[in-house]
Amino acid sequence: MISKNLLKIKESLPDKVTLIAVSKTKPISMIMEAYNHGQKDFGENKVQELTSKYPSMPSDIRWHMIGHLQRNKVKHIAPFVHMIHGVDSFKLLKEINKQAFKHNREINCLLQFHIAEETTKFGLSYNEAIEILDSDLFYELNNICICGIMGMATLTNDKQQVLGEFESLHTIFTRLSQHSSTTNSFKIISMGMSNDYDLAIQKGSNMVRIGSKIFGERLKS
Ligand SMILES: *Cc1c(COP(=O)(O)O)cnc(C)c1O
Repeated sequence: MISKNLLKIKESLPDKVTLIAVSKTKPISMIMEAYNHGQKDFGENKVQELTSKYPSMPSDIRWHMIGHLQRNKVKHIAPFVHMIHGVDSFKLLKEINKQAFKHNREINCLLQFHIAEETTKFGLSYNEAIEILDSDLFYELNNICICGIMGMATLTNDKQQVLGEFESLHTIFTRLSQHSSTTNSFKIISMGMSNDYDLAIQKGSNMVRIGSKIFGERLKS
C-alpha cells in the first residue's frame, strides 16, 4: 500500500519537486517500506519522536524537522537533522547556529511564514523576516544556511483561497531572493501537503511535505 501510494505521488511530481514523506506517528516498519522504495527524505514534527526514530533507521536518510521547534530542544536534533523548516524567530536561529557549531556542521534552515487565515499556525511576517536578514548579527551565524522558506495554507476547500495563499508565499520568496543576505543556496519553497500539494506546485513549490497520502490517515491526537 505504502509503496503504491509513494510511487503514484512520485510519478505525478515534476522533477524539480522534492518529496518529503511525513512519517509522524507512523512506525519504523512503515518508514522502512518507503525507504526500501527509494525514499530518502522524511519529515517529523516532534523532537522526541525524531530522536527516538533516528537511531534505528539507515544513516543516509535526510531528516526534516517540520514542526514548531522550541529553542531548548534544538540540541537534541542538532547532531543529525538535515533541515529545519520552522524557523520563526531570530532567537531560534541563533540557537540552531550555536548547536550546529558545537557539532562542527552547518544546518539547513527554512524561514516559516504565516500565510494561513488560522491564528494557530506559527510563522513570520514578511517584515519580521526582513528584520532578521537585516540584523548585523545575522552575518555572524556561520553554521546555518538559509535555504528558503516554508508555509502552510489554510485548511479549507476553497481552492482560490489556497492558491492565493501559496501565491503570496511565492511572492515572499521572490522578494527575499533579492535581499543581500540571501545567497545562491536560497532556492527552496516548501509548501503543499496531502490535500493541496497540486495547488502548491502550480504556484511554484519545489518541496512538498506529504504524510497521509503515503502512509494513510493518522489517528487524531
Ligand atoms: C503533518 C504535516 C504535514 C503532512 O500532512 P498530511 O496532510 O498528512 O500530508 C506537512 N507539513 C507539516 C508541517 C505537518 O505537520
